[in-house]
Amino acid sequence: MAEFCYQCTEYHFGDGSVNDFKDLSNEKDTKEGLYISALCEGCGITQVDHSGMCIHHTTDCIVAENEKLEK
Ligand SMILES: [Zn+2]
Ligand SMILES: [Zn+2]
Repeated sequence: MAEFCYQCTEYHFGDGSVNDFKDLSNEKDTKEGLYISALCEGCGITQVDHSGMCIHHTTDCIVAENEKLEK
């Protein structure tokens, strides 16, 4: 089954707030810089915060790499 992070869910379905990686950690973890490794269908292997946000989405995941190539 395909799983998507916050940004990819938003991109494909319009609302990112309900996504496959939400609540794998909690807000405290995010504040402390602890993230969960996840395999997003769009981003590849990346890390997500407690709301399912891909934390490398503008810098380092597959989506970010592709955007760099397009520029
Ligand atoms: Zn993603
Ligand atoms: Zn990403």
